[in-house]
Parts: sequence; C-alpha cells; structure tokens
Amino acid sequence: MVTHCDVAIIGGGPAGSTAGSLLKKYRSALKVHIFERDRFPRDHVGESQLPLISKILDEIGVWDKVEAAGFPVKIGATYRWGRTKDLWDFEFIPDGKFEPAPRPSRYAGQRRLTAFQVDRAKYDEILLRHAERLGCVVREGCGVADVSPTEEDRVGCLRLESGEEVKARYYIDASGHSGILRRKMGVGVNSPTTLQNIAIWAYWRNAKWASTVGVGGTRVLVLSQSAGWVWFIPLGPDRTSIGLVLPVGFLKESGKKPEALYREALAADPVLRPLLSAATQEPTLQATKDWSFLAERLVGENWFLAGESAGFADPILAAGLSLAHSGAREVAYTILALMQGEFEPDWLRRQYNDNHRGHIMEHIRFADYWYSANGVFSDLKDYAQLIARDAGYEISPEQAWMWLGQGGFIDRTGSPEIGLYGLGITKEILASFGGTEPYYAIEGRSHFKLNLDGTVMTWVAEMNEGRISRIRAYERGGRFLPVVGTMGWVVRLLREKRSFMEIAAAANRRGVEEAMSAAKFLDFWSVVVKCLEKLVTLGWVEAHTEAGAEPCPRFESDYRPTLHPNRDFPSDGESGSA
Ligand SMILES: Cc1cc2nc3c(=O)[nH]c(=O)nc-3n(C[C@H](O)[C@H](O)[C@H](O)COP(=O)(O)OP(=O)(O)OC[C@H]3O[C@@H](n4cnc5c(N)ncnc54)[C@H](O)[C@@H]3O)c2cc1C
Repeated sequence: MVTHCDVAIIGGGPAGSTAGSLLKKYRSALKVHIFERDRFPRDHVGESQLPLISKILDEIGVWDKVEAAGFPVKIGATYRWGRTKDLWDFEFIPDGKFEPAPRPSRYAGQRRLTAFQVDRAKYDEILLRHAERLGCVVREGCGVADVSPTEEDRVGCLRLESGEEVKARYYIDASGHSGILRRKMGVGVNSPTTLQNIAIWAYWRNAKWASTVGVGGTRVLVLSQSAGWVWFIPLGPDRTSIGLVLPVGFLKESGKKPEALYREALAADPVLRPLLSAATQEPTLQATKDWSFLAERLVGENWFLAGESAGFADPILAAGLSLAHSGAREVAYTILALMQGEFEPDWLRRQYNDNHRGHIMEHIRFADYWYSANGVFSDLKDYAQLIARDAGYEISPEQAWMWLGQGGFIDRTGSPEIGLYGLGITKEILASFGGTEPYYAIEGRSHFKLNLDGTVMTWVAEMNEGRISRIRAYERGGRFLPVVGTMGWVVRLLREKRSFMEIAAAANRRGVEEAMSAAKFLDFWSVVVKCLEKLVTLGWVEAHTEAGAEPCPRFESDYRPTLHPNRDFPSDGESGSA
C-alpha cells in the first residue's frame, strides 16, 4: 500500500506537531501526515521552557489549551552557580514583579513574558491533538522503519514498520534524538564542544516548594555541585523532575553506579535535602548522554531536519524545546514559501539551514561558557580561548574572556536580544557568574560611530503570519545586521546622529510624532537602547566618551536608563553635542 501526502512528518513531539500545526493553519488544503512511533501520552525529559515558546504556542493557537492544563507558570530560575555559593535569581519579567492573576489566564500583558514548566507526557499530547484538530493526519504507533534516498539528495519515500510506503512532496525529520531521516540521508553530525556529560533523572512525589506551584509564578532550581549540577523542575503540585548532570569522565573515574551517584548528590545537597524530606522517588531512574551535537546540514532537495534531529546544546540552558519549536516553525514557513514559488528555492533552504545551525551553535558555545563559569575549570580564560578557537577566532585568553563575557555566542538576527535569552537577562547571568555588576557596553559612553567597513548588502528572511519576506541586511564575516524594525531605525539614525543625547532626542521626537503613551514610549526606548548595546557588543558600532558630552546613564533594569527621555532630554532642536 502507498500513502500520498504533501508533507510527511516523522515524529509527533513538539517539533513535529509545531510544523504540522503551522502548515495546516496557513494552508488548510495541504495533506499533512504525522507518523509517531509511540502512543501518546508518553514520558519525555525536557520540561523547563523559555518565554519564546509561549509566542509560538500562541501563533499555533494552542497557548490557551496549554494554560488550561494548569502547568506551573515559569517566571525565571534560581541558581547556585559561578563563583558564589549563594542562591541568585534571574527573572523573565523586568524587576521580577510578577503579579499572579486567576488562571486560566490569557496570553496578554505579563503572561507574554512567562514560560511554562511542563509535564511532557501531557504537554506533547495537547500539542499533537491540536495538530490533529487543525487537520493533520496523526498516526500513532506507526514508526518509520526506513527512508529511501534517491539521486539528487531527495527522499524517495518512507517505509513504515507495517511495510506501508509513504510518498510526499516534502519530508520533515522531527524524530528527535533518533534522527532516522538524517541518518538515512547520510548527514554527519559534529560535537563542537569540549564538554561530555551524562544526565541521570527521576520524578518525585510531594517535594516541598512544588506543592505551592501553580498558584503564582514559579521558577526552576539549578544547583551547581562539586562534580556537576542538579535540576529541580516542579511540574505541578505533586510531581517534580530532578536530574543530575555529570561529566562522563567523573562517572567512569568514580567507579560507582549512576543510581548511587544520584542518591548521594541529592542527599548531600543542603538546599535539596529539606525539599525532599517528605518526598518519594518514582521507581524509574533514567539516564542519557551524548546529547550535544549539530547536524552538518539541515536541508536537502525535499527534506528538512527539525527539532532535536538537527542538534541540541545542553540541558543547562533549558533551550531545547525553544529550538525545537522555533526551528519547526521556520521549516513550516520555508515549505510554504517553496510551494508558493515566490523566492529562489536555494535561498530559502539556505536561510533555514544557516539560521538554525547558527542558533544551535550559539547555544553550544553559550553552554560551554556557562560550564566554564562554574569554577570546575581552573583557568577560565584559557578555556574561553578554546571556545573562541572553536568559533574560528584566534585571540588571546584575555580577549576571549571579554568576547564571551560580552556575548560572543551571539546570534545573527536583527532583534535586540541575544540567542533565545533577553539581552538584559544574559548580562545579568554573566554578571552573576563573576559575582559582579552587569556590564553594559554603552553605559558611560557619549558617542557612537557606525562601522560598516567591509560589509556587503544582502537579504535575510523574516517570517511573519505564515509568509516569508526578504529584508535588507549588512553582512560581514558571516554575521548579519538586518536593517529592519527598531534596529533598522537605530542604524539609519546612526548614519547622521552620533551622540547619545541626539539619539535620545530623535527617539523622543518619534514618540511624540506617533503619539505614544508613556508606557509605550518607555518600551520603545528600552528597545532602542538594547539595539544600541547589541550594535556595540557585536562591533557594528564603536562607542567612546567625549569630554563635556552627556554620556549614556546607568541602567535600572531591562535596559531602562534612569534618565527618562520624555522628561529630561532636550528636544531635537536643543541637542547641543555633535
Ligand atoms: C537530559 C536532558 C534534559 C533536557 N532538559 C530540557 C529542558 O529542561 N528544557 C528544554 O527546553 N529542553 C530540554 N531538553 C531537550 C528536549 O528534551 C528536546 O530538545 C525536545 O524534546 C526536542 O523535541 P523534538 O520534537 O525534536 O523531539 P522529541 O520530543 O524527542 O520527539 C520526537 C518524537 O519522534 C518519535 N520518533 C522517533 N523515531 C521515530 C520513528 N522512526 N518513526 C516515528 N516516530 C519516531 C519519538 O517517539 C518522539 O515522540 C533536554 C534534553 C536532555 C537530553
């Protein structure tokens, strides 16, 4: 028997259901089939999310269902990490001022900045059922046994375990770590990281703290220990995921069994001990390793890798699901655009390949840096140099340390954020590692000079409401500066205005012209400042201080300088400095 469809998706996890849902949402006539080996609900590790996911869930139209399931609202994380043994927090919401509202809530206001901690069995099932409701044909207990390549880098068909054949115009490998299509298409993987870890985890009933989860905003715990670290992710009032991550070398040298190391790590930890005093562990203890990799390419003529089959960095960043959802979204958009025939197919494929590989790579580097800041490595600067070398930079240990500390793992997008983390959050995390105040590249600088030497103009893809559009971007050494939105506005402004006061005055004028409310203006101003910070951090803009000129003031939080441009800044006509 042969089944024909437009898009065949292997795997019904978050990547598969996101791709399927978006394809059907934006082109309901498409025949989209999802082939899932297991029957849902099924357990899966990877429960702690980042706020970016909420936006994609909203686009798919499933945020309300996820909210209705009552998963804890994640507003940040609490760490024991870096040079200090104290616990420190980082918050998704500026100032950490989350105001709990009755649930289920709407995707609006503060809730746009929050994430969820999800029981994957329930979460993945909600998503898969939603894809089905949007019209995907979901076939569970229906594993793909083989993938037949043809010449010209194409998939000819899939063969299911039942022997049935599936032929499609496009194929998506969303089969997670097993990456069946990736392997069958002979795509190699790299592990561009110096870290090799193993995770050992189990679920617990009635851990303290978890019992109040779901009432208001909550957070996950990440606790560094002498040999590795522990995650503590409350999934609801009575269930908590607790995992131990260790260097593989440590496990071997210890001569102990994973169960013994897990038990000892939890029992010895002064923060965990009281939380677990009345808790019981569910019987199954699971372990996995070798998770950090990046596929050599993510696209072929008629196939794509999405989610974990494309690559994964490390649990420390809680970014796996964000990469799975965002990558699958890009794949859906790319397939829709290929079908539309609006853009050159190779350009479209390259956009996804380079963009998403870049994102995974950034996260691998960020994870390396994160571990390096755990005090496990005796000379952090030497280690930073190794990371920089991996990224193609031959720089001194000191330069490498600065480069990483200022965001050397950064992305290629025009947004004022770094990777999947907000710029402000990233700076605060980096500062917490070192036990210092956050470092802001523009603070105290009065003048800013655009440096576009050696750039070429190119196009990058922007994805919105089911369509890809091309936007202009500068490119230099594989780095892109898309000239779009507020970032584009700041870049254009910097062609003429150079002083901080002039930039503030121009922002002020725009606020008046567009009749922005005070709150809207503050948000806009915060984005302007973040754009400037990112431009300086990435070397697109040089910052310096001129005698007598008013410099950029100190920041309060989330890039809101204490000086309020509406109130204190001169209007454009009054701005004095050149
Ligand atoms: C130790 C550890 C901790 C992690 N912690 C976090 C975290 O806290 N936060 C986070 O965001 N991420 C975390 N992750 C990553 C996260 O688990 C993954 O990124 C995420 O599950 C990827 O989603 P996916 O849809 O690509 O793959 P999956 O969720 O693995 O889904 C793939 C699906 O494909 C199916 N499948 C496989 N082979 C076949 C086949 N041949 N035919 C048909 N179906 C098939 C599987 O049954 C599965 O349902 C962690 C990962 C690890 C290893």
